[in-house]
Amino acid sequence: MTLHNDTALVLFSGGQDSTVCLAWALERFARVETVGFDYGQRHVIELDVRPRLRSALAAQKPDWQARLGDDHVIKLDALAAISDTALTRETTIEIAESGLPTTFVPGRNLIFFCFVGALAYRRGARHIVAGMCETDYSGYPDCRDDTVKAMQVALTLGLDKRVTLHTPLMWIDKADTFAMAEEIGGKPLLDLVIEDSHSCYLGDRSKRHDWGYGCGTCPACRLRAQGFAKFMSERKTT
Ligand code: ZN
Repeated sequence: MTLHNDTALVLFSGGQDSTVCLAWALERFARVETVGFDYGQRHVIELDVRPRLRSALAAQKPDWQARLGDDHVIKLDALAAISDTALTRETTIEIAESGLPTTFVPGRNLIFFCFVGALAYRRGARHIVAGMCETDYSGYPDCRDDTVKAMQVALTLGLDKRVTLHTPLMWIDKADTFAMAEEIGGKPLLDLVIEDSHSCYLGDRSKRHDWGYGCGTCPACRLRAQGFAKFMSERKTT
């Protein structure tokens, strides 16, 4: 693996996808910083698991320890104030009339990218890594490849500085995300993703399944459980 002598900023929520993205970045960039957003999520568990995941990842390889830099948590209260969704309010998680789940925060990732772009400029980082995925997702339009590519162009023009957005998970499904974790860091990384990353929309960490903690029934848990089952069955056959 060629090491880029650059800084990368990783959008790091503490979920399965962003944890694998962080490991992916630590393999490739000389310096890696993480960015999290506090936008009034119903459950702050996501924000709680981040520091633990960061130190656990750094402890996996001396190179990763050396490369992992600062963590930035950006407070975005305004996002919760202007949106009415199941991630920020006690609304039921279901499919709304729009055909999108009520967990959809309109434009959330666009806003995230603008803030990360501003931070990247200040930190002299030319690379931004994010876990958006178009393969098995809930249909969020701001996770699509075209949206991300448009943001890369907008940021590069608007900052007058070349910014590259990397989305290593864009074309793989959840099963392959587990496989990618194992490929990058072997069983220790796979175990860490299962044990410490958090996906459940309800913030439930009281139930432990073979795929990790969660309520087991919300859309995020279902996606993770299905992905893990597929990963395990594919793993057995190879
Ligand atoms: Zn759940």
